Amino acid sequence: PSVPELEALQHEDLARMLPVPGAESDKYRRGVVGLVAGSARYPGAAVLAVEGALRGGAGAVRYVGPAGDAVIAARPETLVHAGPPAKAGRVQAWVVGPGLGDGPGVPEVLATDVPVLVDADGLRDLSPEAVRARGAATLLTPHAGEAAALLGVSREEVEAGRLAAVRALAARFGATVLLKGSTTLVCGAGGTGPVRVNPTGTSWLATAGSGDVLSGLAGSLLAAGLPAPDAASAAAYLHGLAARRAARGAPVSAGDVAAALPGAWRDVTGG
Ligand code: AMP
Ligand code: MG
Repeated sequence: PSVPELEALQHEDLARMLPVPGAESDKYRRGVVGLVAGSARYPGAAVLAVEGALRGGAGAVRYVGPAGDAVIAARPETLVHAGPPAKAGRVQAWVVGPGLGDGPGVPEVLATDVPVLVDADGLRDLSPEAVRARGAATLLTPHAGEAAALLGVSREEVEAGRLAAVRALAARFGATVLLKGSTTLVCGAGGTGPVRVNPTGTSWLATAGSGDVLSGLAGSLLAAGLPAPDAASAAAYLHGLAARRAARGAPVSAGDVAAALPGAWRDVTGG
């Protein structure tokens, strides 16, 4: 059977995927994102992931971790929790890993029955068995170096065979995988379906913290109820578009990309 190997994402796909709150919506129905991120060393990663999540349309963002003061200073609308994730109250999707260092939370979040996005430090020593045992969707968002570590190969091998790498990870972990880089690829759990290619990327995105914005954004879309491959590919598409809008031929920082997300969203929805 002729399944296309690669699918380029298009504007129309995005307009169809993105959530629009209805008259009956409230903040819980729009989706609550839980974020386990940041550390004494990397508080900014938590702030940037919160930014991405808020710009992704979450009804609320619950932050769990040691960077609560920085998060509240930047975004007073965040719900900050001092205890472990299980004590934070109901969330519809978890994001774990940005700036986490060797902080706790990955096993606890994987044990929940809601979608989980694992990024950055959360991917270190991630157990395929723990991910495969989950009842809800898991989305992994490695860059080439993180993908190489997960597969036990070199970064060069991943870069030379990105399509094979994203499929191998999706098969090994039974998870949707978004492989970041010059061309971002998204492969559904299992690894055998078509792989989506994001056409909006720009090398201006190669800047500290831009991946943290992406994980918050994708987490927000997971919390809104998008299937993991749609949450991942819509997030990559909007993230690239936002970077282009913010940059227009000049350097941008991750915060600029986050601030340009509403404009990118309007480009897609015609708002
Ligand atoms: P991270 O590696 O987690 O900091 O995330 C970096 C972000 O920038 C991801 O969204 C990547 O896809 C994107 N990115 C990095 N390098 C490039 C590049 N050369 N071209 C386009 N996007 C890039
Ligand atoms: Mg990163």
